[in-house]
Amino acid sequence: MPTVFKKKFMLKQYLDASSLSEWQNLVDGGSKIVIFTHSMPDGDAMGSALALADSLCHKGKDVTVIVPNSYPDFLSWLPGSANVMIYEYGRQKVREQIAAADLFFCLDFNSLERLESMASLVMKQSVPIIMVDHHLNPENIARILISDSHASSTSELIFCLLMQIDGLEKLSEAAAQCIYCGMMMDTGSFTYNSNRSEVFYIISLLLTKGIDKDKIYRAVYHNYSVNRLRLEGYILHDKMEYFQEEHTSVFCLTKNEMKEYQFKKGDAEGFVNLPLQIKGTKLSISLREDTEKPLIRVSLRSVDDFSCDVMAKQFFNGGGHLNAAGGSLAMTMNEALAETHKAIEAFHDLLSREVIKD
Ligand code: 5GP
Ligand code: MN
Repeated sequence: MPTVFKKKFMLKQYLDASSLSEWQNLVDGGSKIVIFTHSMPDGDAMGSALALADSLCHKGKDVTVIVPNSYPDFLSWLPGSANVMIYEYGRQKVREQIAAADLFFCLDFNSLERLESMASLVMKQSVPIIMVDHHLNPENIARILISDSHASSTSELIFCLLMQIDGLEKLSEAAAQCIYCGMMMDTGSFTYNSNRSEVFYIISLLLTKGIDKDKIYRAVYHNYSVNRLRLEGYILHDKMEYFQEEHTSVFCLTKNEMKEYQFKKGDAEGFVNLPLQIKGTKLSISLREDTEKPLIRVSLRSVDDFSCDVMAKQFFNGGGHLNAAGGSLAMTMNEALAETHKAIEAFHDLLSREVIKD
């Protein structure tokens, strides 16, 4: 047999015997379970939360997924998304759910501040927390912490946990769709952070559940309005600054520009990845005025070993991963642009090294 077929695939078993039994006791004893995920929920946040909710519902549990603010329209096809409670649209109902819960799951974030104004509500309760996440340096708040920054996504972690606890047979097609969506979106459709063979092994198992991965791709990425596509053209043509020496691009988007293109929540998704298509690019930064708060939202994407996480922590009050991070600045757009220029200058030596050798 060729060696390539010899490798025996093993999914990681994230729970040792004692945490497995603690997990099961907490779930069995929980009469009301709340799953939280982070502010401005993305595909991984929603996918991991909804897959876990689906599996707990099939066990007969009373489960609610709660998010601080709304998710983009291109995730509304996710099975179960219609039942997700959004704090900013119904604070009292969310408070009641939180007060009644006896088990919390925190998925796809490592610090309660990513729940924004909901954080204090969660902190007040003395309810055990199970945290599952793939960001570095998680806060020490969980009874059970599953943290692996090498995982492609929290959805991958939830898949491995569900396999360990229940096995593949119990996984529904709906949960498989949610997990696929999370893994796809957190890896830029498997173009970064996805070189581990386990990623594709998991996908092959998800496909046995009958999911249509091409349809999921179209539901997420081919769901734009005409205006969204024109806005993309406008950004690339009129807004993108390119710093040749630092192999870095920066663009900003103001509320007025968003209004002009009838911007909807989620329309900015993916814009920051576009400049990475420029040969030799190392870093792309986007600055966007928040539509509700006086904040500039910052997104960073990089290739290879330039750490977005380090830059986001140092300059943008945020963090994230090696190749994708974010943060925010409480200042005007012009000030935020000046801060961004400072950040690029500070990392000049790392960024100006040549990457393409041919
Ligand atoms: P995005 O650019 O898509 O908003 O975020 C990319 C990644 O950066 C997210 O998956 C998350 O890990 C991280 N991130 C985004 N915004 C923040 C933030 O405000 N604080 C922290 N700590 N991480 C963030
Ligand atoms: Mn994630």
